[in-house]
Amino acid sequence: MKEFNKTVLTIQAHPDDTEIFCSGTLSLLRERGFKIVIATMTNGGMGGVAEDEKRTAATRKKEASRAAEILDAEYYCLDERDGYLFDNSEIRIKVTSLIRRVNAGIIITHLPFDYHPDHRATSTIVEAAAIVSTLPNIPSKEKPTDLTPLLYYSAPFGFRNNMGGKIPDPDFFIDVTTKFNIKKEMLGCHESQKAVMELMFNITDFFGDMRETDLKTGKMAGVKYAEAYWQNKGAGFYPEPLIQEKLKGFSLSGLRPCSAMQAKEIKNES
Ligand SMILES: [Zn+2]
Repeated sequence: MKEFNKTVLTIQAHPDDTEIFCSGTLSLLRERGFKIVIATMTNGGMGGVAEDEKRTAATRKKEASRAAEILDAEYYCLDERDGYLFDNSEIRIKVTSLIRRVNAGIIITHLPFDYHPDHRATSTIVEAAAIVSTLPNIPSKEKPTDLTPLLYYSAPFGFRNNMGGKIPDPDFFIDVTTKFNIKKEMLGCHESQKAVMELMFNITDFFGDMRETDLKTGKMAGVKYAEAYWQNKGAGFYPEPLIQEKLKGFSLSGLRPCSAMQAKEIKNES
């Protein structure tokens, strides 16, 4: 019987997205024998204050590589332009090739209705690239995967869509309380982003947004810090709850009855 390869590939738009949205779960999966691969669609070149686009991109790729090292993860940058990410055949083939090269059994990307245009484009590209990863006629030099990888989505900031509206409740949560320090350590590698956050959002507490989000998500799940996930169970993907099963004890499905009220309050607050 074919089995999903024990490699998790996270493909997100910008250097630092994986660190913020799903690195706690990646760290737990690594402890259970999974190989971790982190990829960013863009090089983050617009996220600079003191350097031009090209230099910023180089700096950010170095920062992302250092963060990946903390999880013994491989890091790939697909080098698309930050802020100008578009869906097209070439980029889909590039992503299918990456999925095949690392033989991903699980993929984590952004939700299709995330707040950021680059995140939404990433989600569409990754879904389209993953769904055909077993097909031999795709023009890629890499060997097709045995199985279509399982496709998971991480949460957008604030649990809101791009119009500020509500999004469906997550399929499950992962308790990352024991991993929050690793998340901070990984995000801390993105030194260049401190000045950017201050300039764009007047944020001086660099870890504040991540902490707030994980605390709010934790309240919804009934633990201190949590990450939230959805799984693509559409006709194109397998519905096997592999992450949920491998992280038994950390995986909490749906809103907990005891925290439903809290969750409501949290949603109203944000
Ligand atoms: Zn991003």
